[in-house]
Amino acid sequence: MELTILGSGTAALQAERGPSGHLLKIGSSVCLLDSGSGTLLKCLQTGTSYKEIDRLFYTHMHPDHTIDLIPFLFATKYTPGFQRRKKLTIYGPAGFADFYERLLSVYGRDMVDVGYEIEVRELASERICFDRWHVQTAQMRHSRTAIGYRFECAGRSFVYSGDTGFCDEIVGLAHEADLLLLECSFADDNKVEGHLTPTEAGEIARLAAARRLLLTHIYPPFGPDEIITAVRSRFHGEVAIAHDLQRVLI
Ligand SMILES: [Zn+2]
Ligand SMILES: [Zn+2]
Repeated sequence: MELTILGSGTAALQAERGPSGHLLKIGSSVCLLDSGSGTLLKCLQTGTSYKEIDRLFYTHMHPDHTIDLIPFLFATKYTPGFQRRKKLTIYGPAGFADFYERLLSVYGRDMVDVGYEIEVRELASERICFDRWHVQTAQMRHSRTAIGYRFECAGRSFVYSGDTGFCDEIVGLAHEADLLLLECSFADDNKVEGHLTPTEAGEIARLAAARRLLLTHIYPPFGPDEIITAVRSRFHGEVAIAHDLQRVLI
C-alpha cells in the first residue's frame, strides 16, 4: 500500500495545508479517501491523475472532506479525448446517497450523464472485500453518521479516522495498525467535541497498539513541537505530523 497525503489541513485554509484528501494505492486499485477543496490539483502534482482513480471513500459529508467530488465528476466528464469506462463506486456513510442526489439537483443531473456507471454505496460498520484487499468501517464520533476506515492488503493495515472525537470504535478499528492516520484538530487546552487533541490521539494509538501514528487535520495555529510533546506523553511508538504531498509506504 502507498498513501499520499493531499490535504493535511481543515476548513481553516492554510497555504501549506489543504483540506482533507488522501490517495491510497492498494492492490491494483487507486482510491481517493475524502476530497476537500484542492484535492484533485494536489493529486495531479503528485503525478496521479483523477482519470486513474477507481473508487472514492468518504468519511462524512462536511465540505472540507467532500467538495472536490464535484470537480472530480466534472473533470472526468469534460476532459478532451478522455472517456472513463470503468465503473465508479462512491462509498460513504449513511445519508451519503441523499447528499449526492442533492448535489446533483444543484449542479444538474447531466453531471452524471456520462458513459460509465456510478454507484453510491452507504456503509455503517461492515467489511467489504475486493480482489486482494479489504476494507472495514466503524462508526466515529463526529457528525451523526461519520465513519472511519481500515484497509488491509498483503498482511499490512492502514487506518484512517476521518474526523472523530475519542471513542472505543477508533481504538478497535486501529488495533495493531501498521499505519494509523488520526485527525488531531486542536490543542489540549482548546478541546472541541467531535475532534481529537494530541493527548487523545496519543492515547488512542497506545490503546490500539498502533505501530506508527501520523497526525492530520491540523487547525492553525498549532505548533508541531506542542503536538509531538503531548502525543509522546501517551504513545511511545513512531509519530509524525502529516504534510501535503507526503508519500508513505505501508
Ligand atoms: Zn474536517
Ligand atoms: Zn467534519
